Amino acid sequence: MLKWDGHTHTPFCKHGSSASMIHYVQQAIQQQFQRYTLTEHPPLPPHYIADEALQRTLAMPEQELGSYFEQAHSLKQHVEEQIEITVGLELDYLPDRLEHASRLLDQWAGQMEDAVVSVHFLPGSNGNECVDYTADVLLDRLVPYYGSLDQLLHAYYDHVEQAIQWAGTLPLRTRIGHINLIEKFRMSMPELNPLIMQKRLENLLPLLQQAGVGVDVNTAGLRKPLCQQAYVPPWFIAACVKRNIPLVYGSDAHHPDEVGAGWDWFAHQITKAGEKGA
Ligand SMILES: [Zn+2]
Ligand SMILES: [Zn+2]
Repeated sequence: MLKWDGHTHTPFCKHGSSASMIHYVQQAIQQQFQRYTLTEHPPLPPHYIADEALQRTLAMPEQELGSYFEQAHSLKQHVEEQIEITVGLELDYLPDRLEHASRLLDQWAGQMEDAVVSVHFLPGSNGNECVDYTADVLLDRLVPYYGSLDQLLHAYYDHVEQAIQWAGTLPLRTRIGHINLIEKFRMSMPELNPLIMQKRLENLLPLLQQAGVGVDVNTAGLRKPLCQQAYVPPWFIAACVKRNIPLVYGSDAHHPDEVGAGWDWFAHQITKAGEKGA
């Protein structure tokens, strides 16, 4: 198994550590990772969410994107003897602003090998809202808009499905980001309906196969105090192994200390799935 961390952040992320890229990569080298993918949050369209101050923490301003790619490629060359760096982005699926990502991809396509495509936003009564900011946003703003927690859950997976289909049309290697991000605050909320989740996740499997999109086995949830589990359930990992859907471990590191976090859990799940399938 290739030891690959496929989802990581850099100092260009305004809600993460200001440690330089090399500090992250040194951690990966120390842990004998063979490949390491930089997937920074790209700029959002102006005024994408109502809260301007929050938006500024979510993504870099457009004028920084060039230096992100420049630094990323210079680091790639600098460490190529020790580790393979692939350069990419964590692209938001923004159904109302698809042209924004198309423009970024047109402009920077030659610089990118990988994209994690993520659903971080859902429409609500006050415009777009973050699904991973606080439990209150989910419960006080999105649940009333969709009518119930069950309906919100359906809306979330509708977006994940669309994101997979869209990712399949992009001209680079893609995987769907943290498919169960909606569980980030699960321990401080009423229970998310497990039958709906199971069914909606099962429905993603043929879509992933048809679209040729992989899965970001994102372990950040394991270290979130109100989640304490990975954003991809073990049964889903096993189902992907069976169907040859590419699975890529993602630490989603926002600090050098988080590089490689949850790798052992991931490796264990893959081994277990392989034994069951054999
Ligand atoms: Zn982030
Ligand atoms: Zn994300």
